[in-house]
Amino acid sequence: MTAGDRHHVDVGAYALGLLEEADADRFEEHLAQCGRCADLLEDFVGLEPLLAAYAARQGTASAASAADAAQRGPGGR
Ligand SMILES: [Zn+2]
Repeated sequence: MTAGDRHHVDVGAYALGLLEEADADRFEEHLAQCGRCADLLEDFVGLEPLLAAYAARQGTASAASAADAAQRGPGGR
């Protein structure tokens, strides 16, 4: 894995705002020239509100029950 490839794995962390500022800057530089990461970022940004909604709805629920809820699909009550 090259240094350039490393940035591909940062997409999720960047989308969720988990990167250090320096890492985020580096990733944005990479993003400007990487269509693959741009596509991935779009997917992650689209998912992020769903994940946040899950987290809010599940509260302190375990990952197992979150996965169970995911199987019922969004909007399931
Ligand atoms: Zn990339």
